[in-house]
Amino acid sequence: MCSQVVFCRISWSPSASGQAARPETRGYNTKSNKQRVVKTPGGRAVFQVVKKKAKGPICGDCGKALIGLPRLRPIEYARLKKREKRVNRAYGGSRCAGCVRSRSGLSTGWIGEFC
Ligand SMILES: [Zn+2]
Repeated sequence: MCSQVVFCRISWSPSASGQAARPETRGYNTKSNKQRVVKTPGGRAVFQVVKKKAKGPICGDCGKALIGLPRLRPIEYARLKKREKRVNRAYGGSRCAGCVRSRSGLSTGWIGEFC
């Protein structure tokens, strides 16, 4: 996702030769510390910190991705509204519609609703 980047203040200016020099990196290029260089509209080159890719919520029974929910990093779900974290159904943010319908792997307390 393009929105998962943050501008940081590290920038570089063209050297005397006119050729822009690459700025010092912020640590090693590890999985949790990715960055890329982008040009700003003003022509400056700055680092963009690339956030880790989110996997998104999956069904607890079959493992398929749950539809209708955003793919965010875990901390970002805490900032969402309740209606954005789940779909309006029993087991909405946890099990997919097919698994709820087939009642597989769920407790028997509410089965009567569908019979
Ligand atoms: Zn499922």
